[in-house]
Amino acid sequence: MRQRIVIAIGLLMDPDLIIADEPTTALDVTIQAEIMELMLELCERNNVALILITHDLGVVSQVTQRTMVMYAGRVIEQGPTKEIINDAQHPYTQGLINALPQMGVRGERLQQIRGSMPTLQAIPKGCAFSNRCDYATERCRVIPEFTRSGGCLVACHMVEEMVAQSENKAQEGGA
Ligand code: SF4
Repeated sequence: MRQRIVIAIGLLMDPDLIIADEPTTALDVTIQAEIMELMLELCERNNVALILITHDLGVVSQVTQRTMVMYAGRVIEQGPTKEIINDAQHPYTQGLINALPQMGVRGERLQQIRGSMPTLQAIPKGCAFSNRCDYATERCRVIPEFTRSGGCLVACHMVEEMVAQSENKAQEGGA
């Protein structure tokens, strides 16, 4: 009921945009679905845009159209939600998705990203994910620029290489 009241307060001032930070935290799955449905319905009816901040990839995949993944305060991957959920390119996003339990898989340990999130005082130089990334190399000491991959932008040197390789293959195929 409190969540519903907060949503009502949020809509009272007739906003163009609502920023909802973990709006369904601590709710069970059924109530969470009800709250999200209510919020989406009200936003649609009142023509309000919604930015959802959440750690819950299930909610992200069901509710959002576009996703921006952040690590240590930086955006590391962004694009259409379906593309990110089905074909994540950044090693951190891949790690998050691989850590989710899979329907029908029993008795296996969940995959986890090794290490833990650095404190803001100890973010590695270059790519902030480099001390946890299995693909890290010397060049990851430099902060990666965004590289386009499909409909997404990905901040990772590995993606740059993969895009270059596929461009080379396409050129060889066309020669
Ligand atoms: S830039 Fe390097 S360390 Fe960072 S995610 Fe990509 S491969 Fe890993």
